[in-house]
Amino acid sequence: MATLDSLKQTLRERAMAMAMAMETATAASPHQPLSNAQFSAGFDILTQGSGWTTYQDFIIPRLSEVLAPLFDSRSHISVLEVGPGPRSVLGSLPDSLRRKIRKYSAFEPNGLFVTQLEQWIGSPATTPEAEVPLPCLESAPEIHQVAFVARDTKDSNGSGAVTTTDADRGDGDEKFDAILFCHSMYGMKPKHTFIRSALDMLVERDNGLVVVFHRQSLDHDLDGLVCHRAASFPSGTVSVEANNDEALDRFAAFVAGFNVSHEATRAEWRNVCRALGGREHDAHHPDHVVFSAPEVMAAFTRHATALPELAVKVPLADRDKMVKNHEARRRRAAAIVRPTDVCHVQECVRWALEHGVGLTVLGGGHSGHCLWPNVVAVDMGAFDDVCVLAATAGGQQSDSDYCGPLILAGAGCKTGDIVGKAMAAGLTVPLGARPSVGAGVWLQGGIGHLARMYGLACDCIVGAVVVSVASGEVLCVGCVPSEHRPAGAVSLELEESYLLWAIKGAATNFGIVVSVTFKAYAAQTYSVRDWVIPLSYGLEVRHKLASFGKVAAKDLPRTCSADAYLYGNNDRLCLGVTMFDTSPTARANSEIPAPAPNPVSEMLGPHASLKTVDGVGVFECDMYMSGMHGGHGGGKTSSFKRCLFLKDIGEAPIADILVAAVERRPTALCYLHLLQGGEAIGDVAADSTAFGCRDWDFACVITGIWPRDQDGTNTALAAVCWVYEVATQLLPLSSGVYGADLGPDPRDAPLAASAFGPNIPRLARLKRRFDPRSVLAYAFPLSRPPDPKLIVLVTGESGAGKDYCADIWAAVLTQKGLLARVVSISEATKREYAAATGADLDRLLRSRAYKEQHRASLTSFFQDQVKQRPRLPEEHFLEVVHGAADADVLLITGMRDDAPSRLFDVCVEASQETRRVRRLHQDSGDHGHDSIFLTYRPDLIFHNDVTGNEAAVQEFAERRLLSFFHEDLRRLASMVQNIPGFPREDMDFRHVLGIAQQPGGLALCTSLLKSQFAGTWAEIDVVACCEAGGFVFASALAAMVDIPLALIRAAGKLPSPTFSVSKAPSHISSFASSRSDAKEERIEMERDVIPKGASVLVVDDVLATGRTLCAVLRLLGEAGVSAENVCVMVVAEFPVHRSRDLLRRDGFGGVNVQGLLQFGGA
Ligand SMILES: Cc1cc2nc3c(=O)[nH]c(=O)nc-3n(C[C@H](O)[C@H](O)[C@H](O)COP(=O)(O)OP(=O)(O)OC[C@H]3O[C@@H](n4cnc5c(N)ncnc54)[C@H](O)[C@@H]3O)c2cc1C
Repeated sequence: MATLDSLKQTLRERAMAMAMAMETATAASPHQPLSNAQFSAGFDILTQGSGWTTYQDFIIPRLSEVLAPLFDSRSHISVLEVGPGPRSVLGSLPDSLRRKIRKYSAFEPNGLFVTQLEQWIGSPATTPEAEVPLPCLESAPEIHQVAFVARDTKDSNGSGAVTTTDADRGDGDEKFDAILFCHSMYGMKPKHTFIRSALDMLVERDNGLVVVFHRQSLDHDLDGLVCHRAASFPSGTVSVEANNDEALDRFAAFVAGFNVSHEATRAEWRNVCRALGGREHDAHHPDHVVFSAPEVMAAFTRHATALPELAVKVPLADRDKMVKNHEARRRRAAAIVRPTDVCHVQECVRWALEHGVGLTVLGGGHSGHCLWPNVVAVDMGAFDDVCVLAATAGGQQSDSDYCGPLILAGAGCKTGDIVGKAMAAGLTVPLGARPSVGAGVWLQGGIGHLARMYGLACDCIVGAVVVSVASGEVLCVGCVPSEHRPAGAVSLELEESYLLWAIKGAATNFGIVVSVTFKAYAAQTYSVRDWVIPLSYGLEVRHKLASFGKVAAKDLPRTCSADAYLYGNNDRLCLGVTMFDTSPTARANSEIPAPAPNPVSEMLGPHASLKTVDGVGVFECDMYMSGMHGGHGGGKTSSFKRCLFLKDIGEAPIADILVAAVERRPTALCYLHLLQGGEAIGDVAADSTAFGCRDWDFACVITGIWPRDQDGTNTALAAVCWVYEVATQLLPLSSGVYGADLGPDPRDAPLAASAFGPNIPRLARLKRRFDPRSVLAYAFPLSRPPDPKLIVLVTGESGAGKDYCADIWAAVLTQKGLLARVVSISEATKREYAAATGADLDRLLRSRAYKEQHRASLTSFFQDQVKQRPRLPEEHFLEVVHGAADADVLLITGMRDDAPSRLFDVCVEASQETRRVRRLHQDSGDHGHDSIFLTYRPDLIFHNDVTGNEAAVQEFAERRLLSFFHEDLRRLASMVQNIPGFPREDMDFRHVLGIAQQPGGLALCTSLLKSQFAGTWAEIDVVACCEAGGFVFASALAAMVDIPLALIRAAGKLPSPTFSVSKAPSHISSFASSRSDAKEERIEMERDVIPKGASVLVVDDVLATGRTLCAVLRLLGEAGVSAENVCVMVVAEFPVHRSRDLLRRDGFGGVNVQGLLQFGGA
């Protein structure tokens, strides 16, 4: 399957050749431009069939994602679209985004498209709203039937200034929030001048966006611009009917960019299309020819031109620096910086944070993710020190108690550098098998010939120096000898163990690693034996693989590692085996190479070759380098690899896939490498390091190889496709995927889902903590996990039936399509207790009697733990929440301590007698959780007195819990704009009061306040509110429910007599610059507006620190309204400010507070 670019080139060449052969230049003159109708016909083919898949799977989701924060931050969005064609892609955005677009302008030179576009946008006055793609436009769309022209291209290339007038462009000073080029940059040269021009047309705010979608070849001339976000879709295709001459003619002319009049040339073009297009890849359209059309997105903000600020602070490397990886070689980074000091790395991070852009990190350059188009790459090559620290008694090299030898390696070192220097000191570190591979190998795992003996490279990491991508600080994690700690480095305390855990297998996502400290081992001598066994395809292979796999996995000692290679040699399938033996017998015999036999060598018979080598010499013993295909030592090849973990390689389905893969390899050089695992790799529990996948016998590296001079050709494309095809077939049979080199490429997504074993949810949480602004956006795709949409604490005394109710509620919610989980908070303690004491965890969790036996020691174990780790309860709570990242609703039972942030809670109540009976019969379903005495009032109470009344429990879930998922609440949340940088640079402001300014916002909010109120309206005498936010929502609500209003204002604004109390400034006022000196103020309420002893509902817009609410409650107290007679409803709550704690401290813990919405952050 050819790419569209190569098709275009071939069509043009053929047309030229035909013209010359016919000696009539006009026959194929590129000067016959396409008419509007021809252009439109060609465009249709591109956007239909598989072309539409590119829109569905890439353009629309990526555009929605990149626009969402911008749209979220404003109530009105203006968009300019360049070359939208007959209909804008904006029409396919989610409803909530489309409704924000209030102004739409476009430049579309094709008159036919202009007419279609105008019809499509429709007139809001005449078209039913549902059919209008942009339903909230406030003015008629402005569609200019002219090309978009850069204002002045002179400054970019110094010549050929092309200046447009304001008349050409509409209003020259017009500004937009977003400007979109979707496949419309063809013919714009140089492209960066058009983007710069568009950047000048953004409104003067930070997060306005210019978004470009284009075929992949675009990045070559966006020189010097730094993108905010980039994405690629390498698997995009375009197809056209193979047997429809007319369609092929339209398609070919569109791709070539001109028309030909001679039938012979058209016929030749059709032949070209049929010959170059693939057919086998489009199973749904067997009569179509398919072309590869990889796509990229680049989104720019006004910070796109910020590179010079970085360039003056950090040394630059050659932007055309040669890297090993073929994909990376084809990408033009915005710049490659080469820090020579840690403070340079810090500068890079601070610059990236300030300008809202991502970075890539360049280690050994073997992955496709070290360079990305228009992203700054940080080349760590200068950090290439290797330091050997001899074993010490008592571990004085660091705070760690490890006292064996250490090796400290800079992140710019290659595997060969480390092994070589360590060897000189009689030591080694188990790294990968190739000497040129860089830090990426040990930061993502590191599988090598010593892995069975010492574990993975990441298992040997005991410490690291990392530049935080959250703050730019230098962090020392774990064991970093004091003389190697950079000045000013900080430690993380509580979170240090999390970061070290993440570094062991997934480091590339969590910071820029400057150096790591490895545990070192005694240097090894290897006896290396090779076998090459030619096989017939079919059963013989299966047998050989099965017996090799079984014997190797079961009977080889950990001092031996046997790798297998499946490859083709002159149409013969070969099984190559290399055994690396470091056993003492092999070492003893190193002078006279005659290693001891072992079960594998006995099975394979006489070996073909035998060498005795040291840790450096072993690099040359890889069969790929030394034997396969005649040896590749000097060959100039490129490769593409993906690696899956397999258990039983001889099992029929696996063996058949492996053999079939070699049989249909697209180049003779492609092969499968099976690296042996087991032993020390599996000694480490899956969740004790980020690496996660531990239970496998062989790591199958599917290796696509082609001659380097064929990079970017169909051959390279076919090899990459082959790797993904084989990986896809093996995936369901695998026991995990190696996370190394998986990136944001959509083809990696299914593989990524199986990487890191059980650790993905935790990694995703940590990503949010350690890389909150996605500075390392191009590493392994760890999508930000959504918080559970609802966390319900199920509280109540022992015997009330908490677990029984929680299980039923989870089942009801699950039936309604929500993923609900019940988790007991005490499980974490029980697990730790069982591990420490040898108690039976299963019985501890399930048997009440067994737990009773252990109750006292369990309690004292927990108390001891808390003494050592005072934040243990919080850690447990977060662990439970993090562990349920995939759940929509998390029901937490057994909570004894206060949750770190207040959550929705339901207290299950039953009479003392019922509880006593249930406890006697042990059917409470509470599995022995302790009683809990709430220091606050629960949001809801469920009376569970009637044992076995399942219907009532279900009804409660349907009525009370499901209401939280009402579509109207989601709509309300989407009306709250997020305003970055207000009231302070580092804060994001949620404009809750702004709901009232949105069309329909106040009405929606009022009706939700009414319907969601957990109390009884008939019992409320007065609705009270404090200026200003409260006035808006409370007035509307009071009118709707027909209840009198009590207004609370700043002192001096209401006629006396009044009640009056002091009030600390609210959260936002204390930050507003004009009020930075804000001191305590007073609030007042007229004396006669609330009768003594009345029941009052307080309504406010926001609950943050709770200072205002506490003052209001005190004021109501002055008026004779006790706290038990007060309920509170707020539109939005920000639990991070711990208002509930303040309420409790001020004695208002018993007040029922309900929030319609909850937001993280400020
Ligand atoms: C020929 C070859 C042989 C291989 N052999 C083995 C093997 O034997 N065992 C094995 O386990 N794997 C092996 N691999 C896979 C290898 O581990 C990965 O390709 C690895 O990503 C390469 O790392 P690098 O530093 O060379 O590449 P790079 O592309 O420079 O880096 C890889 C990733 O790490 C990130 N990164 C690099 N340095 C840092 C840093 N200091 N801080 C944060 N992030 C950083 C990069 O941004 C990138 O995402 C091999 C790959 C190839 C191509």
